[in-house]
Amino acid sequence: MSEFNAQQLANLGIRNLSPYQAGKPIEELERELGIKNIVKLASNENPLGISARVQQALQDQIQGLARYPDANGFYLKSKIADKFSVQLNQITLGNGSNDILELIARTYVNDQHEVIYSQHAFVVYPLVTQAIGAKGVAVPAKNYGHDLNGMLSAITARTKMIFIANPNNPTGTFLSSAELYQFIKQVPQHIVVVLDEAYSEYVSADERAPSMTWVAEFSNLIVSRTFSKAYGLAGLRAGFAVSHPSIADYLNRLRQPFNMNSLSLCAAIAALDDDDYLAQSVKINQQGMAQLIDFCTKQGLNYIPSWGNFLTIEVGPQAALIYQKLLHAGVIVRPIGAYELPNHLRVSVGLAHENQVFIDAMQDILEATR
Ligand SMILES: *Cc1c(COP(=O)(O)O)cnc(C)c1O
Repeated sequence: MSEFNAQQLANLGIRNLSPYQAGKPIEELERELGIKNIVKLASNENPLGISARVQQALQDQIQGLARYPDANGFYLKSKIADKFSVQLNQITLGNGSNDILELIARTYVNDQHEVIYSQHAFVVYPLVTQAIGAKGVAVPAKNYGHDLNGMLSAITARTKMIFIANPNNPTGTFLSSAELYQFIKQVPQHIVVVLDEAYSEYVSADERAPSMTWVAEFSNLIVSRTFSKAYGLAGLRAGFAVSHPSIADYLNRLRQPFNMNSLSLCAAIAALDDDDYLAQSVKINQQGMAQLIDFCTKQGLNYIPSWGNFLTIEVGPQAALIYQKLLHAGVIVRPIGAYELPNHLRVSVGLAHENQVFIDAMQDILEATR
């Protein structure tokens, strides 16, 4: 009897896909090691938890859950339009911004195309590229960040899309507004430029690129943002893209009408109103970042200066072992060998006491291995 050959019969792009490796969930480590009070610094989540305001909005929404969500997300789009000075018809809502990144790729890329991204850039870029069967072109990084000239040089007749993460995950590197602008200007108009600004809120106002205004100037530019990081809604899945209205029109045709559910819609609306929470998130991040950097400096550990809510630390060839030892000490960080950074660990900035648990555990481990 012949069986269905799941591998051979899968589409070519999917066949060679490696699954996304998420940060280890707290519950899983609890189950595996039978330990409590685990500190998770592995997925760049907001350590403050959801705000009181969002909690109230969610509670108020529960009664209405028997009904379908608003497929157009009118109130959320209105809020986004207001806050970022864009038009409603420029916005595409996503089930997290990963959803947006995939929507864009599926709308504009086919298996004859090439997609450019940087070495060490966010893993979802190669993932969505491969899923389509397109050719991914990873341009070697410069000082762990995007080499924009290298990326321009990598453009061929087949190039259809370029992904830029600013700040980048997992390296935390940042491109100045001026160099980014010059880059976008030089990309041919028929190539889609996706500017993924998942960590934008952590960048100081004077350094942050005026990317939303660039969208009016470059009809091939798409800016994506998320509610998963500074807004603290990772578990709800909410993100959005801002683009020229005609791009948004096509993304919205492909988008599943209910890709943001009623809870994520109302939470995102409340989060956009909660300036205090956002300010607090940024402040906690600055303090925690200083705490982690201070530790690295004292230990003589190299780290990649970060504009995000995480710090990528060079711990050496023992990184995988150190990761395991940290797990046993109840601390989950992120190994990033899959990003061609096998000697580094990415540590999300937590609350002061969480960072301290990491620092203390790390100190013990380093002493034992030295
Ligand atoms: C976390 C992150 C995202 C956002 O993911 P969501 O799907 O919105 O949770 C997007 N891009 C980068 C670079 C990220 O690190």
